Amino acid sequence: MFSDVHANLEALEEVLDFFEASAVDGYICCGDLVGYGPDPETCVARIAALKNSVIVCGNHDLVAVERLELSWFNPYAKTAAIWTRPHLSDRAKAYLAGLSPKREASGFTVAHGTPRRPPEEYMMSAAQFRENIPYAKVWPVFVGHSHMSLCFRLRQKAPSLLEVESQCLEDGQTFKACPGPQGLLPAALNPGSVGQPRDHDTRASCALYDSETGVFKSVRLTYDIAAVQRKIRRVGLPEYLALRLAYGQ
Ligand code: ZN
Repeated sequence: MFSDVHANLEALEEVLDFFEASAVDGYICCGDLVGYGPDPETCVARIAALKNSVIVCGNHDLVAVERLELSWFNPYAKTAAIWTRPHLSDRAKAYLAGLSPKREASGFTVAHGTPRRPPEEYMMSAAQFRENIPYAKVWPVFVGHSHMSLCFRLRQKAPSLLEVESQCLEDGQTFKACPGPQGLLPAALNPGSVGQPRDHDTRASCALYDSETGVFKSVRLTYDIAAVQRKIRRVGLPEYLALRLAYGQ
């Protein structure tokens, strides 16, 4: 499972190689395939070709295909979105336009931000997690958008009290959705960002999920940051977008 690729092909290739080596059964992507990075077309093509996949779009994808207003983006995101539009083929645009920001699948739900407001809202606090519980029928919910592997779950001992536990996962750490009377109790699991991590760890972030045990495992992978920075500079995207990759923010 992965999210927030942001047109960073070098990071995406490492993540997809890792999934292939791990012999995963399928792929889940929580959105933002494009935006910020220099390889939107190839990243969309690689993700669109994944077999057995559940993919949602993010706010940057919607802006790229002019389904969401550009106005509320910060200046860097805005410049990158305007650059991205003519660098996507009609085929890639049609693919992105066909994605929804929230999807219910067998045994889980995927939403870019939150189940309540899938493209925009960030799942950042226990209160937000609690408020979102009525908005998904099938748990866990996999989310992206914050670019951090921040996970939430209802406590197994007293689910009716809506006591929430949360954890920001580091490389190799696990977080388990707790079993309840009907399937798993509500949990929101974020694999972090492939192409633009913001937790001060510069490595690409992704996760493995075992649907039989409910265990979610954070994975970090090194990739060629300097190569992506060179591309960002070569195509004329803002320098800040190259620099932030080296700081993980
Ligand atoms: Zn994003």
